[in-house]
This record gives sequence, C-alpha cells and structure tokens, in this order.
Amino acid sequence: MSEFDYDLFVIGAGSGGTRASRVAAAHGARVAVAEEYRVGGTCVIRGCVPKKLLVYGAHFAEDLRDARHFGWDVPPDCAFSWPRLRDNVLKEVDRINQAYTTTLESNGAEIIHQRATVSGPNEVTLADGTKKTAKTILIAVGAHPAIPECPGHEHGITSNEAFHLEAVPKRVLIAGAGYIANEFAGIFHQLGAHVILMNRTKDILRGYDLQIRDRLLQISMMKGLEFRFDATFQGIEKLDDGCLKVSMANHEPAVVDMVMFATGRKPNTHGLGLDTAGVELDDMGAVKVDDHNRSTCPSIYAIGDVTNRIQLTPIAIREGQAFADNLFGGKATVVDYDCVPSAVFSHPPIAGVGMTEAEARQKLGSVKVYSSDFRPMKNVLAGRDERALYKMVCDGETDRVVGIHMIGPEVAEIIQSAAVAVKAGLTKAQFDATVALHPTMAEELVLLK
Ligand code: NDP
Repeated sequence: MSEFDYDLFVIGAGSGGTRASRVAAAHGARVAVAEEYRVGGTCVIRGCVPKKLLVYGAHFAEDLRDARHFGWDVPPDCAFSWPRLRDNVLKEVDRINQAYTTTLESNGAEIIHQRATVSGPNEVTLADGTKKTAKTILIAVGAHPAIPECPGHEHGITSNEAFHLEAVPKRVLIAGAGYIANEFAGIFHQLGAHVILMNRTKDILRGYDLQIRDRLLQISMMKGLEFRFDATFQGIEKLDDGCLKVSMANHEPAVVDMVMFATGRKPNTHGLGLDTAGVELDDMGAVKVDDHNRSTCPSIYAIGDVTNRIQLTPIAIREGQAFADNLFGGKATVVDYDCVPSAVFSHPPIAGVGMTEAEARQKLGSVKVYSSDFRPMKNVLAGRDERALYKMVCDGETDRVVGIHMIGPEVAEIIQSAAVAVKAGLTKAQFDATVALHPTMAEELVLLK
C-alpha cells in the first residue's frame, strides 16, 4: 500500500490537466483531478472553442453580403439573433464539457468538483477542508484576464463574460491589441457594433510579422474599426444613462456601451498555497519549471498557462502528455517549442510559423524573403477589395524556409500543413518542386518568386 491517497493529484481540469490526468490514469496511476469551475478549462468553456464558433457566426455577415454576387437573393434586412447564436454556442460548450468529463472518468481518474490548494509538498486541501495526499502534485490551473488598474475598471468586462451577453452592444471599446482584442473586435464589428480598439503602444499583435500586422490594421480600418494608439486608461465613468465614458491619455474621451479588457492573462497562482511547499514563482506569478515541468519543489510539477511559457492550448496538451508519459509511462520526452504555429482568428485571420522577417534578419547572416500579395478569387467576384499576403522567410545561405506568415481567408487551415514543412527544415527549392494545386490560395506557397 502506498503511503499516499493518490499517485497523482492534478489541480485544474483544463486542456493540460485533463490530458495529464487521463494519460497518467491510463498508465495505471491512481489519479484525482480537482476542478473548481467546469471540466474543460479556458479553451473549452470560455476561450478557443466558443470564440471560434462566434467567429464562424460573425463571418456570415460578410458571407451573406458576398452571396448576392454569387447569384443568391439575400434580403437586405436579413435578421440576426444573438441569443440564438449565443445559446447554441453554450450548448456546444456543454456537450464538450460532458465529453471531457466522460473521458476522465472512463480512464479511471476521479474528478473532485472543488477548489484545491496546496498545503505541503505532498498535500492538498479541498474547499470543504478535506486534506488529500499524493506522491506527485500537478499544477494546471491556467491563467485569468489581467485588468489594468484605473478608476472605474470594475465597469468593464473580459472575454469570460463576452460569451454570456444579453445583447450585442452598439458601441464597444476593447482595451489591448493582442489575440483576444483583434478576435473579438472582428466578432463585434461583424455583428453590427462600432468597435474602438485602444492600445497603450502603437503596435497590434506584437510577435507577428510586421507586414502581416500592418495588412490586418489596414483591412480592419477599411472595414470601419477605430484604432486609438498610445492610449492609456485614465478612468471609466458610468453615466446616468448607463453608458460608459472612457478617458484616456492622448485622445478625446469615448462614450460606449461596453468596455472589454483584453490586456493579457496572468497565471492563477494567487492564494494557491504554493509557498507552503517552496514552489518558486517568477515576476509574473508563473510557476518556475525545468524542461520536465518540475517546479522548485521536487514533488510538484506545473504545465500550461500557469507556467507562462507559450499560452496556447496545444502546448498545454503536449506538456500534459509529456509529463504523464515521463512520470508514469516510462517514456522520456520533452516538449519541443520550436516552430509552433499560431493564428489569430481576426477578420481576416492571420497565421504564422517560425521566424518573422525581423527575427530572421537579427539571427541569421543572410535572409531571403519571398511574398505574394494577391486578391483571392472569391473576393474578386464578391467585389471585396481585400488582399491576402503570404510571406516566406528563408535562410539566404542554405535556402531553408525558416518562417511563413500569412493573412487572408482560411490561413489558419493552410499554416497547419505548411508548419510541417517548416518544422521538417525543408528548403524553398523543395516547396517549388511540389506541383501547385489549382485553383487554391495555398498554391501561392509553391509559386513564390
Ligand atoms: P496578448 O498578450 O495577445 O495581448 C495583450 C495586449 O494588451 C497587448 O496589446 C498589450 O499591449 C496590452 N497590454 C498588456 N498589458 C497591459 C496593461 N497593463 N495595460 C494596457 N494594455 C496592456 O493577450 P490577450 O489577452 O489578447 O490573450 C492572452 C493570451 O491568450 C495570448 O497571449 C495567447 O497566448 C492566448 N490566446 C490565443 C488565441 C489563439 O491562439 N488564437 C486566442 C486568444 C488568446 P502591447 O503589446 O502594446 O504592450
């Protein structure tokens, strides 16, 4: 008999925690996983999944307009029901939440629907005061939206609440210009709102290729989104009529119906008791871990957003899998963070993998850049003046493709396959040796001059 209640106690049943729990249980470990809210975590419950469904829903606004050019009679007063979209999305979230729960249970992991905090290197305390012991504890508690300090910030919402709105507001101010800001700006704009995106710097989507970001900015402005740069909050005041007056440095105040903060996410380590076990945190409050996800306490590990390495679901899943395989499956694996593809589901989406042009110029001696700036044929027939831009960044010495960056319809779908080639270290000549598939947008990748 083990001296502990469990071999593994996981705190947090999000994407990473669920993967680690079910794989460890499948390897034969006695596993419990505590979840204070809903199984599935940010991605399933209030992130990637419902967001992508809203993106699909919102895109019909353009699709229905374009459909007329393709011969369809779409009435000009084509009605949209936000409650119907919202409720259908939430129903789908319920279905996936149930599927995650079933997967955990069928693999033999025990789900504890309570908050758990660490009370020692091998002990956790549940919200009802019960104490449980485990040989290993895994912290997979994710992150939460960070809200900048300013008077009246309590009048704003975050993406967490955006999925439950009663109605689509007429005027929305989104703070931040990263992933969430650009994705929700597109959603609210397509659904009829006037959107103001305000950011403290001049940049949108820092980390993505400059030309691609510039193209998104141009297209977004052309569509009617308003951008306010170098703008920091001075205060949010609720007016008598319920509207919000947002004061900001360098700009006139804006009066809107809703303010949404999309200003980054902070690890959920506050009040988690990690200090009781000597688990060190970094300046952002993230758990410090080594290549094997082990914290500074040898019996405690951490994966996913709480470690603030790359805040993406597939990364948390890989880390969860590697953790469980290492500890319980006897398979030594470390997660490879090189060439992770990513996308922003803006309107239109952008996607990238590998080095941006600027990064490549800084890291490599010589760089060759190939690009294609084109109007997708669907946009031409629809009379839509929106151009796609694909960029390929190559090592000038070896011809190896070190980065691909794209904006245009369906680029997230395209980059996933292209990422295989970039990850495999293929050269531009090998792309060129592949016959184009005509007529597609993706064929541009093998026709770059
Ligand atoms: P991001 O890091 O993408 O963007 C944060 C934005 O907020 C930036 O524009 C930043 O400005 C600004 N900002 C940061 N701190 C402050 C502050 N204190 N005051 C004012 N502005 C501030 O964060 P998001 O919240 O959009 O998303 C969180 C994470 O979730 C992302 O990093 C991503 O990893 C993940 N995510 C991924 C998605 C996907 O894969 N499609 C979708 C949604 C989220 P500046 O850069 O100018 O300093």
